[in-house]
Amino acid sequence: CGIVGYTGFQDAYTIVINGLRRLEYRGYDSAGIVLENKNANFSTAKTKGKVDDLVAISENLKGTASVGMGHTRWATHGVPSDRNSHPHISNNGKIALVHNGIIENYDTIKKMLTEKGYTFKSETDTEVLVNLIQYFMELDANLDFPEAVRFALNEVYGAYAITVMHEDFPGVLVVGRLGSPLAIGLGNKEYFIASDASPFVEFTKEAIYLEEGHMATISLENGVDIRSIVDNSKIIPAIQELKL
Ligand code: GLU
Repeated sequence: CGIVGYTGFQDAYTIVINGLRRLEYRGYDSAGIVLENKNANFSTAKTKGKVDDLVAISENLKGTASVGMGHTRWATHGVPSDRNSHPHISNNGKIALVHNGIIENYDTIKKMLTEKGYTFKSETDTEVLVNLIQYFMELDANLDFPEAVRFALNEVYGAYAITVMHEDFPGVLVVGRLGSPLAIGLGNKEYFIASDASPFVEFTKEAIYLEEGHMATISLENGVDIRSIVDNSKIIPAIQELKL
């Protein structure tokens, strides 16, 4: 199971696919990718199987985007299948999310959202989280995207490393971590996200290892803004010099 994300000037498809290959050693049963093209629209591809199987159905996405993220899944809730693969997309089609870990109370949240009219395409615990973010944004139209992610994370129990994108917030990647690892690579006019530094070590030697209970909003415009998930307090991160 692994996560790779990218925003910068290189081809996001190539960075994400090569990054997922570097994380293959962690084990997985499915793989997926979502890219945000120049018009801020999402293109998604996901499949049960290996990264090679993902490439076979998605090579047309090469060269179309400089922002995107990918996932390798180790199924915990819902069998390995195309539908249960990540990314998961919110009901309104605007929010994409990848997740490693387990949302322990997904059942309660799923019930609440179903009563509000939300529908679910997968059997995963993950899909409740992306719809919970949409729910908070619809509850309060002034709520910023990262703040909605933070609200949603405060409702869940379990373990997670997540990356989230929103079509109305082009170029922005929101990440969060509790119990599963996530590293941010700091390049020159580019940022990388990955479960460990191996997908980006060829591009930069500077990294932030996100700490437990922290989230980050990453964009070329505003850099990396790290906050406490519980109370939104600003965190000044330690930047690590990679020796790989
Ligand atoms: N619990 C999620 C699922 O079953 C994520 C699994 C993972 O860590 O890859 O889809």
